[in-house]
Amino acid sequence: MRATMMDYPLTLTHYLERAGTLLSDREIATRLPGRSIHRYRYGDCHRRARRLASALAKAGLGRGEAVGTMMWNNYPHLEAYFGIPCAGGVVHTLNFRLHPNDIAYIANHAGDRFVIVDDVLLPLFEKVRPEIAPERVFVAALSGEPVPQGYESYEDLLATGDADDDLPALDEGDACGVCYTSGTTGQPKGVVYSHRAMVLHTMAMCMAEPFGLSQRDTVMPVVPMFHANAWGLPYGAVAAGARIVLPGPHLDPASLLDLCEAERVTFAAGVPTIWNGILQALDAEPGRWSLHPALRTAVGGSAASEAMIRGFDRHGVRTIHAWGMTEMTPLGSAAVLKPSMDALDEDTRYAYRARQGRAMPFVDMRLVNDAGVVPWDGETMGEVQVRGPWIAGAYHDSGELGDKWTEDGWLRTGDVATIDDEGFMKITDRTKDLIKSGGEWISSVDLENALMGHPAVSEAAVIAVPHAKWDERPLAVVVLKEGEHTDGDALRDHLAGGFAKWWLPDDYVFVDEIPRTSTGKFLKSALRARYEDRLLPR
Ligand code: ADP
Repeated sequence: MRATMMDYPLTLTHYLERAGTLLSDREIATRLPGRSIHRYRYGDCHRRARRLASALAKAGLGRGEAVGTMMWNNYPHLEAYFGIPCAGGVVHTLNFRLHPNDIAYIANHAGDRFVIVDDVLLPLFEKVRPEIAPERVFVAALSGEPVPQGYESYEDLLATGDADDDLPALDEGDACGVCYTSGTTGQPKGVVYSHRAMVLHTMAMCMAEPFGLSQRDTVMPVVPMFHANAWGLPYGAVAAGARIVLPGPHLDPASLLDLCEAERVTFAAGVPTIWNGILQALDAEPGRWSLHPALRTAVGGSAASEAMIRGFDRHGVRTIHAWGMTEMTPLGSAAVLKPSMDALDEDTRYAYRARQGRAMPFVDMRLVNDAGVVPWDGETMGEVQVRGPWIAGAYHDSGELGDKWTEDGWLRTGDVATIDDEGFMKITDRTKDLIKSGGEWISSVDLENALMGHPAVSEAAVIAVPHAKWDERPLAVVVLKEGEHTDGDALRDHLAGGFAKWWLPDDYVFVDEIPRTSTGKFLKSALRARYEDRLLPR
């Protein structure tokens, strides 16, 4: 027997049209650079995204051609998220925190024909423009200033489009977006998403677990829309019909908390750096903000420490720890407890929630080390390998597949982890950050989490540094909280109870700041270079 279902393509066009019909009264609020709030409804967004699609088609954008966006999280960016792909184009979110040379490389590599830029980002864009020469540049004037000479206005572009034009019939395999990995080593690589991948990722993300987005939610993506599709939240929120709050350029803790409070946000998402700052603000001024009782946050991009998850619980905010990568659209796993875990003691439950969790539906996951596929015993470490319908099978125009994919077609994530008998994955390192002491692996992540559990410590990075006897030994680089004091001996005592002696860092250095990548992760390569002589005989 053969299936008798229709062959209906999974494309973002469906979500856009649904937003304009069944969900048209839902609100989208954007905080503008001047801090006032712009409000409109899904119905308005739908009409404008359709006008954008029509205008881009009239401007000659061909199927599969890229349009760059250099924008904060705001309503024109949301329009671009739908208007560009629904015109058959590819939305290329440019990470403006990268070095201008990298931005230029990426824009040229993707062949961006047009670029849409926020007016407040024009000074940055000016540095890139001579290197990329896009055919046309459209400026979204959100700051209230007129569009400067030499640029076209985004609003004028929209005015050339007609919201009632037919949208092209797309294939679900068509490209809808492209993101470049931030590439702490080597050239950035382009990951090209298909409509099908994005639709399936959206549906999986919205399920009751992990994120459970619904019409009753007010969703605030703090994670930038230029980073890994803002974890798919712009699509997820629209698919669910949630209210949407876009924070614009003001991302300091007090500004975000003010917005959370004023807009009654129930779901926010961002990297641990953001949440650490917010937690410290909440701790410093308990009672200043009255947050929505249902507020929950998705934290990922790097490890959420157990201390942070506990800290937010004290303020009534539930943290959902998730793991993923640009190559995975990006969601791969989330630490959602099983019902049977309710009976576990509190410490064990927190330990589970601080893991990276169980693979999402449609994400196949395995661990592999030199001996082959690793058992799920919670102890043996191996590299995480994945495959699934929203996982990249190649990079854009990069010729060789390189060693990023195994011969049998799994993506090598570069993360090293254990998986326990409940299927909970726990990242112990990135392959390039592993500390190999006397031939044995030490997990920098475990040590960092434990250090960040010390009351005086704001942040900690543990790195491998060369050692005469053991090849490599761990060194802890620590940032203290404001006004707090401690020393290496005290931190060593703090760790001693939880780790084998040979795991303990050989030395502790105190710094004001840990260098970061453009997406807010510790730049361990810079730390390793800075401290490479630290443990060698002088
Ligand atoms: P890049 O690798 O370019 O920084 P990504 O944002 O795609 O860009 O980063 C993916 C990587 O981030 C993962 O491979 C993993 O190392 C790390 N990561 C993401 N989420 C988590 C998490 N919850 N815990 C620990 N590491 C994480």
